Amino acid sequence: MSHEDYFKEAGVEAQKAECLRDKCGAVVVLNGEIIGRGFSSPAGGLVLDKNGESNRKCELNLITSAKPKSDRTCCVHAEWRAIISALKQKNDTQNLNGSILYFTRVDGEGNILKSGEPYCTVCSRLALDNGISYLALWHESGIKLYNTREYNELSYQFHQKN
Ligand SMILES: [Zn+2]
Ligand SMILES: [Zn+2]
Repeated sequence: MSHEDYFKEAGVEAQKAECLRDKCGAVVVLNGEIIGRGFSSPAGGLVLDKNGESNRKCELNLITSAKPKSDRTCCVHAEWRAIISALKQKNDTQNLNGSILYFTRVDGEGNILKSGEPYCTVCSRLALDNGISYLALWHESGIKLYNTREYNELSYQFHQKN
């Protein structure tokens, strides 16, 4: 599979997002195999009521100016879920060494949206801490794989500039 194919898989995850703000998805790929998947949605185990509605609630209304700049969103990030799902599958954090995390957003029709600069220091630290080797974003200028340490530094620099 190509990088584009993995972004499409991240887009499939993003279409499941329950967040009212953004539909985000991510996959973790190791040696060509998808070992983790995630989408943005509220924290809490998913339970559906008899109408098939989720019990989880996006806390978009709770975002205030006091929310840290590193995490302005309301829900569990797709990347956290993908990393945690990969760890559960591998059962050993060291095994994530060499893996690539692909992240994307989709619009209401499920089309992949091009990403801006790296800025989420929460995700960059979690990826770094668990041995993810590269973070992949699809920019207007094309697909870019960032070394995780570089991505982490760029994310901090983003907040110095903005
Ligand atoms: Zn949300
Ligand atoms: Zn994040």
